[in-house]
Amino acid sequence: MATMTATETRTLGGGGDMAGTATRNDPLSAPALANLGPGFPVAHPTISHWQEHARDSPWHDHVHSTELMSKQPDDVELTIVGSGISGCLAAYFYLKQRHEEGLPGDGARGRVLLLEARRACSGATGRNGGHCRPDSYAGFLAYSKLFSPSAAHDILCNERETFELMRDVVQEEGLAEECEWWQGRTWALFLDVERKARARKAFEAYRGAGHLTEGDGPGQVQWIEDETQAREMSRVQEAVGGATFEAGCLYPLKFCHAILRICAERYGLELYTHTPVTAIHRGRSDEATSARWTVATPRGTISTGKLLLATNGYTTALLPSMNSWLAPHRAQCSSVRPSANFHASSPGRLDRTYSLGRREGSDYEYLTQRPDTAGGYFILGGGHPFASKESQVDTWDDSEVMPTISKHLSSYCGRVFDDWKLDDGGVGAVEMIWTGIQGYSRDSVPTVGEVPASLLPGATDRRLGDEDPTTQRASGRTNLYICGSHHGHGMARAATCSRGIAREMAGEASLLSTEASDEDWAQLTGLPAVFRWTATRAQRRDVDCRYDF
Ligand SMILES: Cc1cc2nc3c(=O)[nH]c(=O)nc-3n(C[C@H](O)[C@H](O)[C@H](O)COP(=O)(O)OP(=O)(O)OC[C@H]3O[C@@H](n4cnc5c(N)ncnc54)[C@H](O)[C@@H]3O)c2cc1C
Repeated sequence: MATMTATETRTLGGGGDMAGTATRNDPLSAPALANLGPGFPVAHPTISHWQEHARDSPWHDHVHSTELMSKQPDDVELTIVGSGISGCLAAYFYLKQRHEEGLPGDGARGRVLLLEARRACSGATGRNGGHCRPDSYAGFLAYSKLFSPSAAHDILCNERETFELMRDVVQEEGLAEECEWWQGRTWALFLDVERKARARKAFEAYRGAGHLTEGDGPGQVQWIEDETQAREMSRVQEAVGGATFEAGCLYPLKFCHAILRICAERYGLELYTHTPVTAIHRGRSDEATSARWTVATPRGTISTGKLLLATNGYTTALLPSMNSWLAPHRAQCSSVRPSANFHASSPGRLDRTYSLGRREGSDYEYLTQRPDTAGGYFILGGGHPFASKESQVDTWDDSEVMPTISKHLSSYCGRVFDDWKLDDGGVGAVEMIWTGIQGYSRDSVPTVGEVPASLLPGATDRRLGDEDPTTQRASGRTNLYICGSHHGHGMARAATCSRGIAREMAGEASLLSTEASDEDWAQLTGLPAVFRWTATRAQRRDVDCRYDF
């Protein structure tokens, strides 16, 4: 059976990402995106396994109403741009918090909008591996070098907390079955001795710092030194060792669509898909709305009290001032029909999720498996060294796949698993291959917080007027927020970041000005201080992880 390439997959929906019955008559479909220019989401992305297998979701093309424009000049309280996991969970935590705090005295509430350029959750989140895998030791040395050992520990603790928060949201909202939430242990498998030695160094450093306990319980890391044991346990013939720790996986697009449904039906979120934001601008000092933001879209221009950019790899298109901090990065993923002996019958489906790595600069893959009731598909991503750096870094085009990576992924399971068998019916072969755009930051960690006045953008659309510095208020509030740059790791980072930004926009932390101390910010948002977007961080030039490869 042939693998569906990008061109073929594009025909699946009858017209790429803009397709779908709900939008057939929507004047704002592909043409609205086609003219947006460099850095914006492209009009005809590849289609992911997650999108293809959730065709009947009513949220793909949801448009709240034909009337996006303000009914009153100041009725929009918050506008979120981007419907990936960052935007969806920011909306969820913000609205939940507002709901729990109760109605303000006069009973009035501002509108909360979520604007998405393409279909709902059609960015990286709808195209990823679905692997929610908190770093349990591996990044400790690298983060220590980038920041400090205590910051490195904070980052690793945050990943663990993110995993637990994802689990809690799934459980509290009763979404486990709908979004195929699975939790158990994951493999970090080493396919050569260099990789194993490097991992061992990080493992020992983290243990030596007193932060790691060995074992196979929650929060513990089990080190498998013996090659034979690693091979037998993992069914991977090249394994020379491994480590296991707790992780999860899920159907990321269904999770986000469920969160959108909850936000819309329970809390009144207004979702507008096929609504690209083309420019943002802060009100001028001579306007009554000087503290508000103007947001331009093909459906009309709105004025909003607060504005959150959850636009990931596309952020610099709206905020060119962040060009020296963020960069888009293309990655590739695939779905594979597992060979017969990787289903529930003996020897059975994978009992863990996987990452499989070789020495630095060599290949790194990750693998999860969907439930047997959903075909037991493997979701396999990686293979970046098999295509040129230029085809992956600084690119925002997810309308094509990288053929050399496709070739690598297509034969990967057969090469790696001892007992993988390819039969004539296409079982054991790749089903779909697609790409997606990740957001990379200069120092490799998320970028979260209210944008300080000194980092406010110039106007991105001259028709809306020029930036006027006199609009910067003495309070240090700018009402422009950012949450993103999760690299290839957002499922283990986004949930706490979105909760943190929601707290900064609505909760106790909203009392902080952009001039508040990093310690206060970290305490009130519940995030590592190094995630905060500050003028000092923006000036950092001694590292550049945006082009890490
Ligand atoms: C192939 C691939 C595999 C991955 N695998 C994993 C994995 O297994 N585990 C893991 O932890 N991470 C993985 N990642 C990374 C992870 O997907 C991201 O870190 C995470 O999804 C980022 O979420 P987000 O909401 O910040 O961004 P996105 O999901 O990219 O959402 C941003 C949204 O903003 C919209 N947008 C952008 N600009 C505009 C605009 N001007 N107007 C309106 N809307 C706009 C976009 O269309 C998009 O929908 C993978 C990424 C890719 C690409």
